[in-house]
Amino acid sequence: MLSKPLLEFNDNGIYCAAGNFYIDPWRPVKDAIITHAHSDHAKWGHSHYLSHTLSREVLKYRLGDINLETMDYGQTCIRNGVQISFHPAGHIIGSAQVRIEYKGEIWVVSGDYKVEDDGICEAFEPVKCHSFISECTFGMPVYKWKSQEFIYEEMNKWWRQNLEEGKTTVLVGYSLGKAQRILQGLDMSIGNVYTHGVIENTNEALRRNGVQLNPTIRVTPETNREEMRKGLILCPPSSVGTPWMRKFYPYSFGYCSGWMALRGAKRRRAADRGFVLSDHADWDGLISAIKATECETVYLTHGYTASFSRYLSEIGYDAHEAHTLYGGDEANELDEDPVKLVNQDGEVIEKPEEDSTPQKVLSDSEKSIALKKAKKAGGAL
Ligand SMILES: [Zn+2]
Ligand SMILES: [Zn+2]
Repeated sequence: MLSKPLLEFNDNGIYCAAGNFYIDPWRPVKDAIITHAHSDHAKWGHSHYLSHTLSREVLKYRLGDINLETMDYGQTCIRNGVQISFHPAGHIIGSAQVRIEYKGEIWVVSGDYKVEDDGICEAFEPVKCHSFISECTFGMPVYKWKSQEFIYEEMNKWWRQNLEEGKTTVLVGYSLGKAQRILQGLDMSIGNVYTHGVIENTNEALRRNGVQLNPTIRVTPETNREEMRKGLILCPPSSVGTPWMRKFYPYSFGYCSGWMALRGAKRRRAADRGFVLSDHADWDGLISAIKATECETVYLTHGYTASFSRYLSEIGYDAHEAHTLYGGDEANELDEDPVKLVNQDGEVIEKPEEDSTPQKVLSDSEKSIALKKAKKAGGAL
């Protein structure tokens, strides 16, 4: 007889039947555990949320007045006898891997993660488990990150050069995660850092949460243009090609993303400079992280799931692709910022109606869950 796996993928998300809760559900549910505040993992509409303490203010900024309980790394809570704890994922501030233990069986849901210690969020911690549910956004051997120190040096050099040439420095990165990482990597002795409203709102939320960030100045219509020319403007992908960005002309425009490793990515964004800096693990990072869990079974949620699960099978893992709706940050270069909530100057405007409806409805074929090799999965442990 096949027993039900401890976690399964259903129409709503990653479900734990024994504990009756979901992890990063994409449809509204009663009890949601959230790995981190990126919009593909933290959706609106759940009755109850559980997240890491450092996700609190950003979740409230993005989702409004939600019913939220928080927990620190290493703390444990119990749902119907199922033990739940959070462990650092090293992805962004407040990102957590979720460890689930029930009757001696242990599963870990990675959420998004990176293994390089960025010095801003708590470093990734490998957690031993039987089954590991992992992302693999950059699960191809071609992805091999250079050290962040090297990238920061390139960034600061570029800023200094723009200053000499009398150009404004405009740097694009995701508002939650990448923007703060860039901010901490910049040489603040070169000049001031000015922020687009979406990024400044996120910074403010993190500061309310007790996070220490380098000083930033919000760009407003009154901000002095000449002063800004000497500084660096940090803005989200949604501002590329907008009148908001054009008003900084003449400028040099840099784009910071793991996708900059791909040829053609820079051109697609029409950026003058591409900086390869990712908040996801590269190929070696993914493999080292998976090995460190000492797991037998791996489920891959987003990224290069097909080829990566094939590779893991070849090296002896019981590996499966899972069907999920994750992949909203670097996974597909879509803007993860709540752009609908702000105007061109980044000021918060009234929350529109459509924001309160669940995002995507699954088609029938998508409904046929999740695990492509489900029969194997049933008796995995
Ligand atoms: Zn993410
Ligand atoms: Zn993700």
